[in-house]
Amino acid sequence: KPKGLDNSSKELIPSYDWFQTDGTVTVVIYTKQKEMSSESVIADLQEGRLRGEIIVNDYSYLLHIELSYAVHEDIIVQVSEKVGKVELLLKKKETLSWKGLGQPLQSHNTFDKCADRGLFYRKCKLISKSSVSHDTRLLCLMLPPGTHLQVPVGCHLYLKQTITGTEIVKPYTPVTSSLVSKFKDLTDNDKRHIFFMIKIYPSGLFTPALDCICMGDYISVSNPEGNFKKPKAEDVEDLFLLAAGTGLTPMVKLLNYSLTSSSSLRTAKLMFFNKTEDDILWRNQLEQLALNDTRFNVQFVLSEPNAGWTGKQGKISLPLVSQFVKRSKDDSKMLVYICGPLPFMEQGIQILQDLGTSSKEIHCFRA
Ligand code: FAD
Ligand code: NAD
Repeated sequence: KPKGLDNSSKELIPSYDWFQTDGTVTVVIYTKQKEMSSESVIADLQEGRLRGEIIVNDYSYLLHIELSYAVHEDIIVQVSEKVGKVELLLKKKETLSWKGLGQPLQSHNTFDKCADRGLFYRKCKLISKSSVSHDTRLLCLMLPPGTHLQVPVGCHLYLKQTITGTEIVKPYTPVTSSLVSKFKDLTDNDKRHIFFMIKIYPSGLFTPALDCICMGDYISVSNPEGNFKKPKAEDVEDLFLLAAGTGLTPMVKLLNYSLTSSSSLRTAKLMFFNKTEDDILWRNQLEQLALNDTRFNVQFVLSEPNAGWTGKQGKISLPLVSQFVKRSKDDSKMLVYICGPLPFMEQGIQILQDLGTSSKEIHCFRA
């Protein structure tokens, strides 16, 4: 029996079964959840090994098997969200009847706290790379055909590279390919693409090596992680986003999600802090989004502006935040999201608390 929960909760533990036809093998996982999202399923088929992970709240159910016979490299994942059933469809290389599914691998059929489940990596191919600014790139990585993985809003992944013999791992937050929806429709439908907006620090440990990866090369990408709770944003009326530098990244999917899926949203405001005008990421797209959607507006604040800058100046401060975070009506349900350098987030939280914002209304993106 899977371990991880006490006796009283055993009926909630997922279970699995499998069946076959001449050409296929289907592994079925019964999650025992009424509402299941496709984002909760991460499946990997690598060199004859099947790893399926189902996230149920803070728990992870793992199916991990060395398959008995050869299968083709791609996998089809079907999630019946209402009944909580997950099907992993494999294609046999030979039409023979399988006597068993395979041998259990490490932690097979266990139900453990997500925090105790180690990160799993798969190699993804770099398929495009472009400059967003003088030091920031937009990278598109393609998941292998044997992987099913969707990154939920507010989550980050870890990228892993071996640099001069040492494995280095750093977190990054996927973005959409663009903020402007007509571009989004073209590429984001392809669930195998993951976009990253990454700033290259010339003296950094990880990013200079990342910048040297060539088109067609591979990099290891982990499962998603993060403490963001989606329902929180569902009934929000006023959304205030405080982002600094690449702290814009989690705001991209959050904005996309809120502006397209939240029926209650009245305003979404972004205050975006950067050093200079040249550092402002996706400035045109943010301005375009504000033109396209009257609920959204953006203010840029520069800490090292050129003489010609007529906009807001300085670092995060009480006067800036107090004039920015204002409810659209007295009792509106608001949320403030903060992301950027650690001192920026700490000062932001302090300022918000000084202004009387409750801690329930503040969310920080961090590892
Ligand atoms: P590092 O070696 O960490 O150095 C970064 C900078 O600090 C360099 O300028 C370096 O010279 C300087 N530095 C290093 N050590 C010191 C020191 N001791 N004293 C003074 N200066 C020092 N980044 C993105 O670009 N995009 C994202 O989407 C993104 N998402 C993230 C999500 C999370 C949850 C977190 C926690 C971070 C995220 N980051 C993101 C930041 C990312 O993880 C790395 O920290 C960043 O890419 C820098 O890595 P690096 O190894 O190249 O630089
Ligand atoms: P940056 O150095 O270009 O600074 C951008 C702005 O941040 C500055 O103009 C200033 O207004 C503010 N700022 C910087 N240092 C500050 C300080 N000490 N006190 C107050 N304000 C300060 O920023 P960057 O190089 O783009 O760095 C972005 C940061 O965001 C990184 O530390 C990265 O780790 C973090 N980040 C975190 C997540 C996450 O946790 N989910 C995601 C993306 C980025």
